[in-house]
Amino acid sequence: MKDISEIRADFPILDRKVYEKQLVYFDNGATTQKPQCVIDAMNDVYTTYNSNIHRGVHLLSDLSSEAYENARETVRSFINAEKKEEIIFTSGTTGSINGIAFSFGERYINTGDEIIISHLEHHANIVPWQMMCERKGALLRVIPINDKGEIIIGEYLKLLSSKTKLVSVSQASNALGTITPLNDIISAAHEINVPVLVDGAQGVQHGNVDMKKLDCDFYVFSGHKIYGPAGTGVLYGKEKWLSELPPFQGGGDMVDKVTFAKTTYNVLPFKFEAGTMNYPGAIALGRALNYVTETGREAIALREKSLLSYATKRLSEIDGLKIFGTSDSKISTISFLLKNIHPYDAGMILDKMGIAVRTGTHCAQPVMDYFGIDGTIRASLCFYNTNEEIDSLVAGVNKVISMFS
Ligand code: PLP
Repeated sequence: MKDISEIRADFPILDRKVYEKQLVYFDNGATTQKPQCVIDAMNDVYTTYNSNIHRGVHLLSDLSSEAYENARETVRSFINAEKKEEIIFTSGTTGSINGIAFSFGERYINTGDEIIISHLEHHANIVPWQMMCERKGALLRVIPINDKGEIIIGEYLKLLSSKTKLVSVSQASNALGTITPLNDIISAAHEINVPVLVDGAQGVQHGNVDMKKLDCDFYVFSGHKIYGPAGTGVLYGKEKWLSELPPFQGGGDMVDKVTFAKTTYNVLPFKFEAGTMNYPGAIALGRALNYVTETGREAIALREKSLLSYATKRLSEIDGLKIFGTSDSKISTISFLLKNIHPYDAGMILDKMGIAVRTGTHCAQPVMDYFGIDGTIRASLCFYNTNEEIDSLVAGVNKVISMFS
């Protein structure tokens, strides 16, 4: 792996000042910063070959179509999917889950059927299923969690039944950092032929993800959380599902033949890509994934593990600080509260010191309800962060505490 100063130099924004203080960016769970090569890839589209994809016979359209399809191949290889046809570009995790919830609901769900999610989910993996359940008269079942913020597998096994039609869980909790035991969840569901969707929004950027090994049926993630542009995302689905599911949007490019009497649909993956796609974004996402591969996914995972353990140790030493989410198996995200201090107040003061953390419910209100709190302060770290930045956070938190005491 490159040394840390070289890595940080890849991300121009990390150099900036906030209120004349050096920026410390600990909000990577919300969105990651972009390396120059991703910014360049996006610029390159618009400055040298911009043209709509799959439509023109002219050179520019050929170039952008080729770059877009190359990006699809990059995604396939990055997550080790079997086929390129199984990779659909979307607007993000939210777009991907809504799409599957709609299509799956239309094709397979009837009154009284059940969908299982967990208590740890982001709203993006709750609300689309609730909407589908409402439409179809189905029921949402929720796997409970324990005080460490872990899914209780024994309770999950009790929920699985002949009524279960799909299980949808996140790879890691954005609010607490807990990593989900996906192998146990997927194998138990598959034993009774139930498909599993994995929300990889907080997983794909933290280590190797391999569709052939994981064997989930659907896998979704957002480009902007893995150093790519906002408004990009991926929906992976096994071909056997995608070929059976109806499209979730109609329009240009997703059709084969259109008449007023009947429309037939395009082949995979185009059947699920209606209208003008965010091709500059998808191309730049491909560059982001290549950047991650070049940097080294194992090395990234190791570095983040070391940052997590240093930050956990340093923050735990602070009197009055309580960490929420204490599983042994976590991504580099730490949620905490300071005794008697509202997280917004703490976040605003830290901001004035140049430290960007997230405060609030993190779009995971049921997790906050479980702990009986309004929200937390969340520091989500990634491989370009440093122990020195963690020291700044610790100093900042101590200052916040002293201001309120
Ligand atoms: N799922 C998880 C676990 C997330 O952390 C997020 C975003 O924070 C989402 C889904 C939604 O992602 P997006 O807003 O990029 O669609």
